[in-house]
Amino acid sequence: MPVGTAATVKAVPQDVLEELGVEILLGNTYHLYLRPGIEQVRGLGGLHRFMAWPRAILTDSGGFQVFSLSALTKVTEEGVRFRSHLDGASHFFTPESAMQAQIGLGADIIMAFDECTEYPADAVRTRASMEMTLRWAERSKAYFEGHKNEVPWGGSQLSAVSSQQKHVLRFAQDDKPQQDMAGKTQALFGIVQGGMDRELRRESALRTVEIGFPGYAIGGLSVGEPRELTREIVESTLEYLPKDKPRYLMGVGTPEEIALYAGMGVDMMDCVLPTRAARHGLLFTSEGRVSIKQARYAEDAGPLDPACSCLVCQRYSRAYLRHLYAANELLAQVLNTVHNLHFYLETMRRVRAEIQNMSRE
Ligand SMILES: [Zn+2]
Repeated sequence: MPVGTAATVKAVPQDVLEELGVEILLGNTYHLYLRPGIEQVRGLGGLHRFMAWPRAILTDSGGFQVFSLSALTKVTEEGVRFRSHLDGASHFFTPESAMQAQIGLGADIIMAFDECTEYPADAVRTRASMEMTLRWAERSKAYFEGHKNEVPWGGSQLSAVSSQQKHVLRFAQDDKPQQDMAGKTQALFGIVQGGMDRELRRESALRTVEIGFPGYAIGGLSVGEPRELTREIVESTLEYLPKDKPRYLMGVGTPEEIALYAGMGVDMMDCVLPTRAARHGLLFTSEGRVSIKQARYAEDAGPLDPACSCLVCQRYSRAYLRHLYAANELLAQVLNTVHNLHFYLETMRRVRAEIQNMSRE
């Protein structure tokens, strides 16, 4: 899943995302809650309609960003008090308000409110944090069950959405109109925590499965621990998550890592790396990483990646991409991001084809 933090995958318009084959993208509840605000998005028919994206969307619970971006975070059993990174205003997230926000945004998949345990953390702290995440998972589910029909595209809201439709946008004809969504609800996923402790991960997985969700995420990784440890924890946690439900590894990773984790049985991943790296001129290619800002590319007339079929590699030279980057042109961000997204999506398409071949043999 490409990350579309503030209802946009930075530098790439939605029609290009469709052409690239993006089937689902991630929106960040924390950012959308602060700006433009949940009620505004809800009033405009929900996130799909607001950002003119008829394909799938997943929103995170806001928890991870509260912990990583905001200042003066105070965590209690009730929830998290934090200050906006935009204007310093004080806000309070609870499992209930995080569900309310995600229901208001109306993504297809939403996430339980969890505490991302910091790294490193000692055994006592890790267990306490894991236990609270489990209680928050129960509260998230309870709130969701009571309010799941309040989605902006649900039955009762439908007339309001329809009346706005003509003012807002028309979706591409081959995508289902949102009226088909009437009566449908979102899928709420649970999140496994437990720090870097395999035993706590096992317990967190089993107890989260006991609460019961249509999909499960492994959270609290890629928080500064060594990559080998990430791999070990993922491997041991996957054992305890049902194979017939989507298994989602949050915040991972490099192209090599996503292929590795998909091979281990992970079904979904999200990462800002392809888009963020692109904006810093770091490009992933079949020949390894390319830092396009380097002077060695100034007269290189060849394509960025000779093996890549993306529209950037088909059309532009390394010399041109290097020039755009050096001149701080906006197009550099667009082209670099398009290539990196294509490279990631192609990596996953290859992995899927390999898995299909293996299951045929
Ligand atoms: Zn390319």
